[in-house]
Amino acid sequence: MAEKGTISIHTENIFPIIKKFLYSDHEIFLRELVSNAVDATQKLKRLSSLGEITSEIGDTTIEVSFDKEKKTITVSDRGIGMTAEEIKKYINQIAFSGATEFVEKFKDKGDAKDIIGKFGLGFYSAFMVASQVEIISKSHQEVAEAARWICDGSTEFEITEATKETRGTDVILHVAEDSEEFLDEWKLKSILDKYCKFLPVPIKFGTKEEQVEDGKDDEGKPKYKSVTKDRIINDTDPLWTKAPSDLKDEDYLNFYKELYPMSEDPLFWIHLNVDYPFNLTGILYFPKVKNDFEVQKNKIQLYSRQVFITDEVKDVVPEFLMLLHGVIDSPDIPLNVSRSYLQSDGNVKKINNHITKKVADKLEELFKQDRESYQSKWNDIGVFVKYGMLSEDKFYDKAKNFALFTNTENQFFTFEEYKEKVKETQKDKDDNVIYLYTTDAGKQDAYIQSAKNKGYDVLLLDGVIDSHYVNFLEQKIEKTQLKRVDAENIEKIIDKGETIASVLSKEEEEKVKEIFEKAVNNPSMNISIESLSPDDMPVTITMSEFMRRMKDMAKNGGGPYAMMGSMPDQFEMSVNGNHNIVGKILNADNEEKKAQLAKQAYDLAMLSQNMLQGKDLTNFIKRSIEMAAE
Ligand code: ADP
Repeated sequence: MAEKGTISIHTENIFPIIKKFLYSDHEIFLRELVSNAVDATQKLKRLSSLGEITSEIGDTTIEVSFDKEKKTITVSDRGIGMTAEEIKKYINQIAFSGATEFVEKFKDKGDAKDIIGKFGLGFYSAFMVASQVEIISKSHQEVAEAARWICDGSTEFEITEATKETRGTDVILHVAEDSEEFLDEWKLKSILDKYCKFLPVPIKFGTKEEQVEDGKDDEGKPKYKSVTKDRIINDTDPLWTKAPSDLKDEDYLNFYKELYPMSEDPLFWIHLNVDYPFNLTGILYFPKVKNDFEVQKNKIQLYSRQVFITDEVKDVVPEFLMLLHGVIDSPDIPLNVSRSYLQSDGNVKKINNHITKKVADKLEELFKQDRESYQSKWNDIGVFVKYGMLSEDKFYDKAKNFALFTNTENQFFTFEEYKEKVKETQKDKDDNVIYLYTTDAGKQDAYIQSAKNKGYDVLLLDGVIDSHYVNFLEQKIEKTQLKRVDAENIEKIIDKGETIASVLSKEEEEKVKEIFEKAVNNPSMNISIESLSPDDMPVTITMSEFMRRMKDMAKNGGGPYAMMGSMPDQFEMSVNGNHNIVGKILNADNEEKKAQLAKQAYDLAMLSQNMLQGKDLTNFIKRSIEMAAE
């Protein structure tokens, strides 16, 4: 038998087209060929288990090898093999027409490169690195002759008889001149490690040296000798394929180490196992969150039947869980499609919802089972939970029962508990409950203390996403406002409608205002005289809650608030007319002394807001020393 022929496809020569499209990620040719070898092996095993093959199937290890001299890379399997007729059918018709159709379909689309680059074109991918591809195959059918097929990627092929004793297929790539970098042990090993690490059939690549015990020496200590063994590059039963009930914590931790050798232990994990209405297995780990968000992304690996596909899992995994680590394996995620298609795919949506629900259930379970331990992890979990609540209503509905508030005394409360705690004490004259919060307990300490003196509680909301979270909570929690503890004088933040009589007359108030305006001499300070408790601070400087939030939003996200960011800062300065320092100022001997005292009170307020710097700070220190010496 010797036959030459023409592959019936529409495009005259698709090889150059493919090459052009596939200039990125050439390495996936190996994944494609090894996956075909795995498929062929599993088909064989299925036939055997169905009783259609009665002879022993023997060792089915797949071997990847290369020959630097001959410039070849070979993938050999002991799977079902192909007859000459099957090669013509499956390789010429299916592989080639599949590839042509694919390229035709995506030729003009911008994302074609990405898709092909990531997901490959099956057998045809071989032509990304080979100038000629040879197949030598012997079918499992006893009577079949072995066949040899060779093609240079044009539409011409040649098929002849071959001598091959063993069942299975060898795919031999004659590596093209521009791809000789692949004729390298470590290059090939790293590609196999990346894509084939968890394939279900053992894959051999080269050999390794191992030390084994070899009798005892004179002192009775064990002796070792070096033996050469096959190097198997994969773990054929990765943890996610096993039943959760058979696994211990240690197994999960070890698997985590295997995936991310450099990482700290995760906080906890979720083993996903669904078979209806879609098929999905996987393990998601909650890492300890560091502040370097970006670095942590792309840590979830997507597999399809144990073949690594990509670590870009956007769309499949909800955005807020992109910081998780682990693996997801699903044959139901369509791979040969563009991103926009993926987003509208029904299965992908269902998978996404399922993951969200599972994560919420797991968090609720942890919260209910062991609140103490849950609280201790809140610092790390909190970011996910808050981000999740902000981005998905369904998640919020569940998370509102296990999301926690932390206050400045390091106590934890659920939303419900916190409401109970403050709903009476922190109610204002219009029946709004005011939640006080600080974004920096150190810098805002003076304000926190005044709030505490009134018996109020202050929440700690100092995380990266808390400025958005504050706005969000206000919309969600009825008749509740959140105000930063230094937004105003505490009497005004929670306005109980109680007025304190002023010890100053109208004329005296005018006089005080005048003295301060002169001493402060700063147009961005809006000065007013208030009658507060004599125990309150003499002078307070604040930026209004509204103004500050707008500025925070502009800083964090631009959008409609972007222009606010460039507006000059405007501050409210309130002078407590009932404080005895004001009396002192009014009664001071001369104008100079009055100005000095007013300036001192103002500088102290600036200092407590961390706004006193440079020359002003130096002058303040000088003046303080002078005044102390008087
Ligand atoms: P796919 O694997 O997506 O079907 P390919 O282009 O990779 O597409 O392969 C086309 C067909 O060629 C396969 O479906 C299979 O029937 C056959 N084939 C490829 N490689 C092998 C192999 N190593 N052993 C047996 N059959 C193979």
